[in-house]
Amino acid sequence: MSDPKHDTHPMRTPTAVLTRGFDPALSVGSARPAVFRSSTYVFSSPEAAERAFAIQGGRAHAAAGEKVDLIYSRFNHPNAEILEDQIVPLETGAQSAAVFNSGMAAIMTAILALARTGDHIVYTVPLYGGTQHFIHEFLEPFGIQGTAVRAGQGDRLVEAIEQTPSLRIILIETPANPTLVMTDIRQAAEAAARRHPRPLLMVDNTFLGPAFQHPLAIGADVILYSATKYLGGFSDLLSGVALASDPELIRKIKSRRGLFGNILQPDECWILDSRLPTVRLRMNRASKNAQRIAERLVGHRHIRRIYYPTLFEDAEQIRIRIAQCDYSGAIISIDLKGGKPAAFEFLRHLRLARNAVSLGGVETLVCHPQSTTHSSVSAEELEIAGVTDGLVRISIGIEDWRDLLEDFEQALEAAG
Ligand SMILES: *Cc1c(COP(=O)(O)O)cnc(C)c1O
Repeated sequence: MSDPKHDTHPMRTPTAVLTRGFDPALSVGSARPAVFRSSTYVFSSPEAAERAFAIQGGRAHAAAGEKVDLIYSRFNHPNAEILEDQIVPLETGAQSAAVFNSGMAAIMTAILALARTGDHIVYTVPLYGGTQHFIHEFLEPFGIQGTAVRAGQGDRLVEAIEQTPSLRIILIETPANPTLVMTDIRQAAEAAARRHPRPLLMVDNTFLGPAFQHPLAIGADVILYSATKYLGGFSDLLSGVALASDPELIRKIKSRRGLFGNILQPDECWILDSRLPTVRLRMNRASKNAQRIAERLVGHRHIRRIYYPTLFEDAEQIRIRIAQCDYSGAIISIDLKGGKPAAFEFLRHLRLARNAVSLGGVETLVCHPQSTTHSSVSAEELEIAGVTDGLVRISIGIEDWRDLLEDFEQALEAAG
């Protein structure tokens, strides 16, 4: 769907996301993309059908500029193509993208496309709960062994990358949920580059991307998103994305997606596409709000500890934040002195912020990880994740920060 005349003019991201990847002439002149709900596409000739199948099956490669007929919407459809072309300029260094019907679908499909039985995967912990269950309950019985390394322990991660046999994938989630511990992406990429064959570095960039953290630019191979969060931005849509600088990796991932049938459907593609031009605006506002609120809650008499990247005290964590993050993002965690009863009273007394899991929406959401998102996690894993009984995680939205701060302050008084 991309209009080749645009590709010869490099442009800045906010312009590219609005002008690349969609040609109104292919949608009867419509200024915004139409929705193509067809499950199947009419071929221009039997030869074109044969050619499309050869390319879909990986037996032939499309020539530059070749117009390949669409086949069937489980493989590909116009709204997925438009969305994929428009999302690429948002991710620094990306050349190709694949969209999925959830973040978990993107993570699962990327791993299963690029690893096989007998391979090893090294991953940072804490990891998103679903991803961790996928490794333990599916990949390990399937014969893909996982090795966990604590987030932020760069030397341990390098050691695991150097020593794990048959290492195929390194999966980093940074910053970690919910205490925002950061892992050095560049250091992991450099360790991976010293190994032959070189393992692939995947980064779950959901918390800070695409606005504030650019892993492909510092050596990562594949970026994974739960687009349910900031990319979608309104808590009304499940979706996922994989991006890479090497289109061949995305081709392999799409080939598995065609088998699994987890491509994002046309209507959802259209909705997510309409959210792309504002993702940086939304993330900028939410991040500024979060920084102002976090810095004003420091030293509050009912708070034991507050987690926010501009408040890091550890020198190594400060170094990583400065090296790989443009801004600190919109997640704050606070550990209440009164433990779980105080955390519950805090949640009960909020008037503006809502008590819900998930994050990245324009509205502020607050949850108590220990009793919800982390309720099936062992005591040891809770300790690694930094989840205490008084911890609440806050996903700051784009409301006026002063109203949010007042809301938190009155709820803290009630909780204390
Ligand atoms: C939410 C989330 C996921 C899973 O995404 P879904 O869209 O819910 O499938 C994966 N990784 C991170 C960091 C997340 O926050």
